[in-house]
Amino acid sequence: MYAGPQYKKVSALLLRWFDKNARDLPWRRTTDPYAIWVAEIMLQQTQVDTVKPYYDRFLDRFPTVRRLARARPDSVLKMWEGLGYYCRARNLHRAAASIVRDFDGHIPHARDELLTLPGVGLYTAGAIASIAFNRDEPVVDGNVTRVLCRLFRIRQDPRSSRIRKRLWHLAGELLPAGKARPFNQAMMELGATVCLPRRPLCQVCPLRRLCSANEHGEQEKLPRRASKKPLPRHKVVVAVIYRKGRILIDKRKPDGLLGGLWEFPGGKVRSGESLEAALRREVREELGVEVRIVRPLVTVQHSYSHFAIALHAFECTHASGRPRCRGCVDFKWVLPQQLKNYAFPAANKKIFAAIPRQGSKRRS
Ligand code: SF4
Repeated sequence: MYAGPQYKKVSALLLRWFDKNARDLPWRRTTDPYAIWVAEIMLQQTQVDTVKPYYDRFLDRFPTVRRLARARPDSVLKMWEGLGYYCRARNLHRAAASIVRDFDGHIPHARDELLTLPGVGLYTAGAIASIAFNRDEPVVDGNVTRVLCRLFRIRQDPRSSRIRKRLWHLAGELLPAGKARPFNQAMMELGATVCLPRRPLCQVCPLRRLCSANEHGEQEKLPRRASKKPLPRHKVVVAVIYRKGRILIDKRKPDGLLGGLWEFPGGKVRSGESLEAALRREVREELGVEVRIVRPLVTVQHSYSHFAIALHAFECTHASGRPRCRGCVDFKWVLPQQLKNYAFPAANKKIFAAIPRQGSKRRS
């Protein structure tokens, strides 16, 4: 373990390296705090290459925080469709309203004020304060955690609160005053491009001579990883219900998993229940209608962060009952070609290609 002048050496080497090696990313070409905030939210749990097109489209559509605050929730979700973790979009939208209302439309500079915004935690507050405003605030994300655990050869579990506290402290100690903007980005960049989870590129790393894990040949063992448990798997059924050439879709409640998105009615199959029985029960519970099952359409596999599903889609016709929202907040009968106008979860979208434009002959 080292301190004092060695810390200065780490930051000097890292800053020099970043100056020459920083990737040209769209959110690095701007100093607009709103654009940086949008990028930081999109980059949570999501790869840079996935984020790029979403970032550009989102800013084209909502170029300022005021435009975002005025947008309808549906149009914000539509722009987020496919990016996942939809609570980020809902929180971004709520936070925009709060910035307009409480901060006169200006993104706050101070970490404590940023922390009052929906969806902004310690990491995001530090990232916005430092990258947008060059405030001396540290950041610790997955990449920084990996670099620090290796640099300081931290062998304890980085998810424990004691080690998390230590990582934040170290990130703060390493931060050179007045250079938070490049330094924090340099730490994250090193983790993303050199200090990789597997096979880190130590031979080209600017910190190789100071890195304790490199010295002891323990790079691949750190940070300590939790043993991965297999994801629980669920069977889910959904109904593509036709009536007079239109399809019935409904909108999920605003909060919780996939909140505010549109979907085909359906839900989880109970243990011992047949797919068909589950389908009829779920549609009845959700919308109060009875369906006639015409045929299985397609089965798609999809994984979320904490579970995986096999999604069985059936073509159905409407048999009886006027739809009423019981387990949803809205419903619509739409033409098959209009489905693309609504924000659907990725698993539902995988069904689109199997949906006939008219439904089969036995449609009502
Ligand atoms: S020397 Fe290797 S393990 Fe150490 S910080 Fe650099 S890339 Fe990571």
